[in-house]
Amino acid sequence: MYDLIVIGAGPAGLTAAYELSNSNKKVIILEKKSQVGGLAETKVFGNYRYDIGPHRFFTKNKEVYELFLKMLGEDAVEVNRKTRILFKNSYFDYPLTPINALFGLGIGESIVIGFSYIFARIKSYLKISKINNFEDWVVDRFGKKLFNNFFKNYTEKVWGIDCKDIGSDWAAQRIKGLSLSTAIKFALFPNSKKRPKTLVDKFYYPRLGAGMLWEKFEDYIEKQGIKVAKNKKVTGVINNGDSFKVTIEDNLGNQTSIDTKNIFFSNPLLEFIDIYDAEIPESVINSAESLNYRNHISVHVTIDKKLFDDNWIYIHSPNLDMARIADFTNFSDDMSEEGKYPLTLEYFCFEEDEIWNQDNSDIIDFALKELKNIFDEEFNVIHSEVSRNAKAYPVIKTGYQEHIDVIKNWLASLHNITAIGRSGMFKYNNQDHAMATGLYAARTLLGHGNFDPWEVNVDGEYHEELSNN
Ligand SMILES: Cc1cc2nc3c(=O)[nH]c(=O)nc-3n(C[C@H](O)[C@H](O)[C@H](O)COP(=O)(O)OP(=O)(O)OC[C@H]3O[C@@H](n4cnc5c(N)ncnc54)[C@H](O)[C@@H]3O)c2cc1C
Repeated sequence: MYDLIVIGAGPAGLTAAYELSNSNKKVIILEKKSQVGGLAETKVFGNYRYDIGPHRFFTKNKEVYELFLKMLGEDAVEVNRKTRILFKNSYFDYPLTPINALFGLGIGESIVIGFSYIFARIKSYLKISKINNFEDWVVDRFGKKLFNNFFKNYTEKVWGIDCKDIGSDWAAQRIKGLSLSTAIKFALFPNSKKRPKTLVDKFYYPRLGAGMLWEKFEDYIEKQGIKVAKNKKVTGVINNGDSFKVTIEDNLGNQTSIDTKNIFFSNPLLEFIDIYDAEIPESVINSAESLNYRNHISVHVTIDKKLFDDNWIYIHSPNLDMARIADFTNFSDDMSEEGKYPLTLEYFCFEEDEIWNQDNSDIIDFALKELKNIFDEEFNVIHSEVSRNAKAYPVIKTGYQEHIDVIKNWLASLHNITAIGRSGMFKYNNQDHAMATGLYAARTLLGHGNFDPWEVNVDGEYHEELSNN
């Protein structure tokens, strides 16, 4: 009988195990894939290394940051961030600089942008603007014209729904602190403190890709005696009252089961509800059925020409399906061999969309056509591969939070089961948040206090730490 089974060896599961690795708890991690890191894994094909999408590590949680640096040691590479937006065949700095945003589109368009901004600010000042969704929130701060140019297309590519159907709380979380006036302030005074996180321009990156951090966690915890069992998919959780029987299928289709007193799960919340073998209230089922995930496709191609020196470029152009493109040699030289450039081209879709159901070779052909459309340059393709990441983005459709609350309350009534991480908690969050949820869940299990992972905010901070600042 295990004290704890952790489902998933992504950042949340591995950090939870790390925290428990010096205790006398008998712990095992079950991971369905053949490698660790979850969405933050790095795919390695020969000499070419690709993240499934670019991963920039940033956190306001000091403890999480120190852990990140401790685990990486000399393998933490400092990267100067360079990111731009491609829109209407022109490049715009990201974060937007006012001069670039206003004049990049020509003087006529700039005047419209200026007026629409002033109009929005007056409405906001007079308190006559209504903020019911993502679009309202952005228009209120930036004006309708900037919203249409620099927010609408990309956001709708990522989420697959109208910006009016996305909750305003998401905008408040993700682009909080950013307004046209703060963008101007930070463009003029780049060293000012209290820089909003969208504007941070230096970050650390693991020398061999985002996944390197998680391989180091794996090594560390295995040395401490915790097994990370890969190719082990959890297919069922049976609640026996004071313990659980967890059924597992390996990559050859063999079934086994193991018993445990506690479970931390970081696999997708809706999937956990599906495999939880006990009576589930109808309200929970209904809420689960109202929620959805967005799938993510990474097209990895290594080419023999450097096309750009950005870490990544956001593709806002509505005529292209591609959402973002990254060159990993702009993160770390060790991601490839000399003169070869591993790129990840990203697409978002739902399970039923055509692209998700196409052959890899068709997806690669399509992505390369789009790449040539953007850069109009000759290059040779040295390597290409596709990664499919199902349920990568929990869709934060307006009203989703009420459904999550129903599920959260139900989970709270089940003893010894704790949701952790991004997919497990249906939160559109980063590695630091996932790590913090793992840390706090582990501390509760160790009897160090009652830390609720749901209280970790988007910055990876626990709510009580915030009140101390
Ligand atoms: C394209 C993209 C770009 C991103 N960019 C950044 C960034 O710049 N900075 C940043 O900090 N974060 C970024 N993130 C977010 C970051 O990847 C996640 O926050 C983080 O990986 C979440 O960790 P997790 O452990 O909660 O979940 P996951 O990473 O999803 O890990 C869950 C694990 O559970 C496993 N699993 C699932 N089902 C089962 C099952 N039934 N049995 C066993 N195992 C199972 C999965 O295989 C996976 O390994 C990005 C994510 C994406 C998709």
